[in-house]
Amino acid sequence: MKIIEVELIRFQYRSKMVRDAEGHSHPGPEHDATATITRIATDEGVEGYAMGGSPAMLDTVRQVLIGEDPLYRERIWQRLRQFQRMLGPSLDDRHLSAIDLALWDLAGKVAGLPVFKLLGGYRDKVPAYASTMCGDDIPGGLDSPESYADFAQACVEQGYKAFKLHTWMAPLGPDPKRDVAACAAVRERVGPEIDLMLDCHHDYSRTEALYIGRALEELGYHWFEEPMNESSMSSYIWLSEQLDIPVVGPETARGLFYTRAEWIVNKASDISRYDVALGGLTPLMKCIHLAEAHGVALEVHGGGHGNLHALGAMGIPGEYYERGLLHPLYDFEAAQPWLASRVDDIDEDGNVTIPQAPGLSWDFDWEFIDRNRI
Ligand code: MG
Repeated sequence: MKIIEVELIRFQYRSKMVRDAEGHSHPGPEHDATATITRIATDEGVEGYAMGGSPAMLDTVRQVLIGEDPLYRERIWQRLRQFQRMLGPSLDDRHLSAIDLALWDLAGKVAGLPVFKLLGGYRDKVPAYASTMCGDDIPGGLDSPESYADFAQACVEQGYKAFKLHTWMAPLGPDPKRDVAACAAVRERVGPEIDLMLDCHHDYSRTEALYIGRALEELGYHWFEEPMNESSMSSYIWLSEQLDIPVVGPETARGLFYTRAEWIVNKASDISRYDVALGGLTPLMKCIHLAEAHGVALEVHGGGHGNLHALGAMGIPGEYYERGLLHPLYDFEAAQPWLASRVDDIDEDGNVTIPQAPGLSWDFDWEFIDRNRI
């Protein structure tokens, strides 16, 4: 089997999500938005798909992929990774991810298996946590500690057994005391049985992060995520040494799984972190096995098809699927009109079922996509 084409399918849809100056998402007025699907076609008619990809990557990607056997994922991934050194933003980790995921989708279809079983299945469902958007100043939104408590209660009533706050970022933060107040309000509202996590500001000083971490220990929080700039690994070593609550990371630090290896051996966090956006499912599975070999848990960042299949194939925690980002004024369930069905519906117990359809189990609404194609 040979790859004969790599194509981008671009289409418009109506979005009710806007991004602030730092790139954080919030509910906003409805507007046109563009989405991209990467499609890899073979001479035997089997095709693989992934969300994402960009025109800037196409020349290099076609040079590596056309004529190649699509089942040589590792060879393709290594060659593209080596190109990244010189190509910079035109072939970043997200582009690499789109190619790698499309190849996994294709391989699953060739085998007639969902990707998590191709990897070696471990479980058929995974508990989800409700992951909020960042704090805001929108009335009825996430504008006060009390509004986080209200939203946490609504999520628990929906079935979630775990809830993660993203609190106020610039320019509404930083404010360690307000973050702690929000965490306290949520704990008081949902009681002791619900797992709670905090992901805050990302730029606190060491002493501010320590203050918050100690407060979370008092409140019985489950983990503490990215309170400081991840470029400073020594700050995380300093913090993790002093706290009992598990520190999770790194999430956004560059350097793929090589960086996670450094964090693990330097004891910079207690639970590692990775997701398919960092180069694809191929490096995510390497990072999961790296963590397993060190007796370290790994919490998968973000949601979607690729992450869910990885969670179905993990023999170590990965305790939770991150479902979101959620907000009281945003209809998350309706946010992907190009899909005929979401991949991550939750049941009444707060679990997401690992999809069983071959490949990455995409259920595209092709009529919608073709009608809105650019
Ligand atoms: Mg995070």
